Amino acid sequence: MVSSNDDIETLAEEIEQARTALPHIASLLNAFGPLMMGRSRWLMEVQEDPKKIPVDPIQYHDGKPLSEQGSLFSPEDPWQSAGLAVAQAIALGFPNAARSMTALSSLIADGRVDCSSLITLSELDDDAQLTARAVELAMELEILLLFLRFLGRFLLTRIARDMADELAPLSWSKGYCPVCGTFPHLAILREHGQRWLQCGECGHEWKFPRLQCPHCEHEDPADTSYLFVAGNKEDTAFTCSQCQRYLVTSSRPAELHQSPADLIAITLAHLDILLQENGFTPMAECEWNTLGSPQV
Ligand SMILES: [Zn+2]
Ligand SMILES: [Zn+2]
Repeated sequence: MVSSNDDIETLAEEIEQARTALPHIASLLNAFGPLMMGRSRWLMEVQEDPKKIPVDPIQYHDGKPLSEQGSLFSPEDPWQSAGLAVAQAIALGFPNAARSMTALSSLIADGRVDCSSLITLSELDDDAQLTARAVELAMELEILLLFLRFLGRFLLTRIARDMADELAPLSWSKGYCPVCGTFPHLAILREHGQRWLQCGECGHEWKFPRLQCPHCEHEDPADTSYLFVAGNKEDTAFTCSQCQRYLVTSSRPAELHQSPADLIAITLAHLDILLQENGFTPMAECEWNTLGSPQV
């Protein structure tokens, strides 16, 4: 999929339309809109040099995502441009983080911060090292974590886009993402009622049986159902009483232009609140479906 300036303009219009139509999600759009825009622009910048990684079709068929078949990241990836794009977008979306993100942008631009070594820090799961790095960079730990999460997502989205043609003919029957191994944050029902699961980390989408739970693979109409909200037939949530998980779901059978999954998921934030109040847990936690305000 090649994107153009027109696609980016369309995305900006879609965000504005959502802001007008759904004022209750304005704060989420203010926070994450710049990140959606920044990621699209960055993906366009790096599309000349597609990233290809080897796939073993047999391991893939057995449910081993690309992330478990080898390393997804390498130091040669465009870390610095991704880091700059993420820092600029967070500065726009999160006013409290603007000062530290502007400072970080200068450090990245001068080559004094190496974003590929920063991401390895987040994979270590070592709080002491992360905290020390946050102190060194003079920023709050939460802000550094937000930056690292989106830095990883930008790079993963590039891989998912560049590998989509290779993966399309291969068979995948799991409820977690074939690229990065994460559970979906959204499902979209397209023509003939086919359910497409959406990965919130890398943006990959894959087909999955409509009545089966992607999280625990349980399939029994008695334990699974779709929750509807009065007056709206398009937006629902799949629920599984076996694992107590839910998946927000949008029905878009005849859509010519495919809206970005992140934007659709954010417009369903009211369903997240409702489901969580009823004791269900999201299949994948994202910043916009965890209860509470997005302000850092
Ligand atoms: Zn993924
Ligand atoms: Zn389940």
